[in-house]
Amino acid sequence: MGHHNRHFAGDAHVGIWGPPTSAANFCEEDYAVTRFIAEFMNTLSNLAYVYFAFKYPGRSTQETSTISRLDSLSWGLLLVGLASGAFHATLRQGPQFADDLSMLFLTGIMMQYIYCQNQPAGLSRVIAAAVWFSVASASLVYVHSGDIIIHMSAFGASVALIGVRLLQLIYRRQRPEQETAELAARFWTGAAYLAAAFAVWNADLELCVPLLRAQRQRVGWPWALALELHGWWHVLTAAGAAQMIQLVRSLCNNDQNGRKCQPNKEGSRRQRASPPSSALHRGILPKESQADLERIGSSR
Ligand SMILES: [Zn+2]
Repeated sequence: MGHHNRHFAGDAHVGIWGPPTSAANFCEEDYAVTRFIAEFMNTLSNLAYVYFAFKYPGRSTQETSTISRLDSLSWGLLLVGLASGAFHATLRQGPQFADDLSMLFLTGIMMQYIYCQNQPAGLSRVIAAAVWFSVASASLVYVHSGDIIIHMSAFGASVALIGVRLLQLIYRRQRPEQETAELAARFWTGAAYLAAAFAVWNADLELCVPLLRAQRQRVGWPWALALELHGWWHVLTAAGAAQMIQLVRSLCNNDQNGRKCQPNKEGSRRQRASPPSSALHRGILPKESQADLERIGSSR
């Protein structure tokens, strides 16, 4: 996940996927651990996205299977993990596009949730159409040109739009002071994870040669794996994204049915019907307690 114009191809080993064709190639040495996985740690660390997608699936435990408990936000996060894993395992350009587009797809889902929240039905449809037209346009232009700057700009703009809207939803709405403080704490925790992730992503590329590779050789395997900083980028972005996704669910108060847009009328009815702090506690209470709260809310 995430790429830059520094490129570390040309390593000695060859693997089953053939010579790397991807525009991005990170500091980890290609096929250094096994010939089946190009970047071992950068591939394994994508399990963090999968872990968080299933840890906070978004839907009620009343759903029968694990898969049916995943809402669209969790599906988006899972897709990022799978696409990123495929890219780092093979270092082929096709999976790299899948990885990069999955990031835009996840931000598209999040934008639809938070920008449609409590809007009238007609306006919700217009916003949703605008979000997906933008995501699709940026994706097509990026794949057609192969220019990573287009992808980075689109992703950066999406993250900024999500951040601004989340802060607006946290601070502009009337709610008890403590609830606002807890929502804000969750936002800033997520933002701190993402900022740390951005720092290690840059460090992996900027400090690769000679520092990181020399240090890895000095400490030897398996300790060298801890110095694969792009792997830490995956872990930290997964933790940050999971925090933000939980926050989106809390603010939108719609994780039970997984709908992305709520018309004004129904949104306010649902908010009145819910126990006072149920939105805040969604995702942090035990699943059984969440289900109980939702049952109470829907029976009022
Ligand atoms: Zn990556």
